[in-house]
Amino acid sequence: MSNLDLHPVPSVCGGRADVTAEPVRELLEPKRVRLGESSEVRRLLPNLGRRMVGAWVFVDHYGPDDIADEPGMRVAPHPHMGLQTVSWLHEGEVLHRDSVGSLQTVRPRELGLMTSGRAISHSEETPREHARFLHGAQLWVALPDAHRHVDPHFEHHAELPTVTAPGLTSTVILGSLDGAVSPGTTYGPLVGVDLTLRQGAELRLPLEPDFEYAVLSMSGEAHVDGVPVLPGSMLYLGCGRRELPLRATSDAGLMLLGGEPFDEKIVMFWNFIGRDHEEIARAREDWTTGSRFGTVHGYDGAPIPAPPLPPGTLKPRGRTR
Ligand code: MN
Repeated sequence: MSNLDLHPVPSVCGGRADVTAEPVRELLEPKRVRLGESSEVRRLLPNLGRRMVGAWVFVDHYGPDDIADEPGMRVAPHPHMGLQTVSWLHEGEVLHRDSVGSLQTVRPRELGLMTSGRAISHSEETPREHARFLHGAQLWVALPDAHRHVDPHFEHHAELPTVTAPGLTSTVILGSLDGAVSPGTTYGPLVGVDLTLRQGAELRLPLEPDFEYAVLSMSGEAHVDGVPVLPGSMLYLGCGRRELPLRATSDAGLMLLGGEPFDEKIVMFWNFIGRDHEEIARAREDWTTGSRFGTVHGYDGAPIPAPPLPPGTLKPRGRTR
């Protein structure tokens, strides 16, 4: 997914200053980004009050949208730098193409993991033959400085480890939970878990006290540490927890996102993560002139032009407003 804002504002984040060391319950409401007439994307990160959760720096929730008579997702070729993208579906399919030659259909509860490293470009579209509903999340992970220039590559993991408990099936997307380890490549301590809860489920999920966490609601009605979290909302939980109480009042789908607080200060603009203004400006220039980011073959449509840089100089600052 591309950041679809026509005039994206730069987001400066990272650093430990505003990480909540103690457990908190901070409900993050989404920013609604409209896509055409019928659908919208709900953006949870970056959020006005909070920019990161561990290395997770971008969270969009979309659908479920009825696309029976529509083309569905059409995200033309666009670049990325300094991050990993995670495609996660509950319904539908996404066809991924990229500049390192990948061509992959990603289906519900399969991991599509793209590591941009220094530069990649990709497109995402609903295949012509597709399911009626499209429902998923698009997430980005910031790469730490030591690894942000790695070779770009794409991983598809159709088989992911699961952990079950009465009323709960957990699928480990990235990192590990209760000894189950995702095969997805990570470059720092983080976790992403899909939680499918049966109505009436009540349980405690084991957590790492050194990680900060948030829970995104995808569907249904669930209480996270006693707080009702509705679909399209996310509850920030802070650090210092060894377990997390969950209770489902209907069948519900959640995503647990967490990781060690991201120490480095970063600048995020459009689809790029860098460390200063010059890096971002150079990436934008390279995309515009057709260098560095390669070519996506087979997508029926023109690449997405880079939006203009806002006036002034982008400076990395703290991780909250
Ligand atoms: Mn993208």
